Amino acid sequence: MSKQEYMDKAEQYLLHTYNRFPVVFERGQGVYLYDTDGKEYLDFAAGIAVFALGYNDPEYNQALTDQLGKIIHTSNLYYNIPAAEAAQKLVGKSGMSKVFFTNSGTEAIEGAIKVARKYAYLKDGSTDHEIIAMNHSFHGRSLGALSVTGNTHYQEPFKPLIGGVKFADFNDLESVKAQVTEKTCAIILETVQGEGGIYPADPEFLKGVEKLCREKDILLILDEIQCGMGRTGELFAWQAYGVQPDVMTVAKALGCGVPVGAFVLNEKTAQNSLVPGDHGTTYGGNPLACAAVSKVFDLFEEKNILEHVRQIAPYLEKKLDELAEKHSCIVARRGKGLMQGLVITGFPVGQLVTKALEKGLVVISAGSDVLRLVPPLVIQEKHVDEMIVRLEEAIKELEA
Ligand SMILES: *Cc1c(COP(=O)(O)O)cnc(C)c1O
Repeated sequence: MSKQEYMDKAEQYLLHTYNRFPVVFERGQGVYLYDTDGKEYLDFAAGIAVFALGYNDPEYNQALTDQLGKIIHTSNLYYNIPAAEAAQKLVGKSGMSKVFFTNSGTEAIEGAIKVARKYAYLKDGSTDHEIIAMNHSFHGRSLGALSVTGNTHYQEPFKPLIGGVKFADFNDLESVKAQVTEKTCAIILETVQGEGGIYPADPEFLKGVEKLCREKDILLILDEIQCGMGRTGELFAWQAYGVQPDVMTVAKALGCGVPVGAFVLNEKTAQNSLVPGDHGTTYGGNPLACAAVSKVFDLFEEKNILEHVRQIAPYLEKKLDELAEKHSCIVARRGKGLMQGLVITGFPVGQLVTKALEKGLVVISAGSDVLRLVPPLVIQEKHVDEMIVRLEEAIKELEA
């Protein structure tokens, strides 16, 4: 079948909830993707910050193949070995206490919301607690996660959402304080806002929110689904801030391609929230997904991923800043580590994404005007150079 035939077939049978770019990816190798015409693309999107280790890593593939040959699903009525091992590693690396595995980031957020409500319920028995979320945040598309996503456009047609959610401005501590009441049970935020346009939390802001939470026994929920798993040069972005969440959500690169997420609780929260009967999942924590998670943690150590990100990120930043100097359509760069955004003016960022694809470069957008770069964490300087060449070709054509 030709590329057009694959695309036609997809449009005929898949619900049209995405305006997809006209590319059919067939396979990946390292930091490159190949479409059905055999065309090569340098990947600076990693399947939306998922494929941290690059494509077709032999050790990762072997771990999954080994697990396939044993068992891939048991349900949570029984114990399985990979889940215990993956949870141990996640607890060890985060310094937190207990893990609940989910199948997606959205489900991790749902769990975190339930934890917060149950924690507050156990304290005062009331059922009208409030959660403070941030404007321009993104936490997912299910009704609970959508309720704490600060984007009215996503929310509007699906109202009524869950009640008791208030919004404050990211990086504006006073706006958060203004929303706190006796009923506030949690404050949820991304340590680095992703979909909203790549905004890292200011250290004073995040420390201030943490202090507020401690003073009032409000749970601090940090969404590390996009910015976690090494992307900023720390395994979890909050580790650079000297703060500690009560609840952390992870997903995306957690399984490096296998659908898996988790919410992770500190001791206080684990001891005072969900108990048997409160929450569950058929698939969550299944042996296949957890074999992937477990191997991802091993490979992060073996390949010194955090060291590598810390060493390559300044090079990426320098090259992006140089590009911005040369082209007036780039008005700002923001980000941390290998999570970078370029603010684009003069043409829609979607046009740049499309043009870059033509030039063999996969990048994505964030917010209305930000070009988002979230490459596999294993990129090298030569890939940064190649990315700049292809991106600049795309920019030049749009500027012409
Ligand atoms: C992607 C994302 C989610 C939702 O995760 P899914 O796996 O798509 O359900 C939630 N929060 C953040 C910060 C994300 O980037």
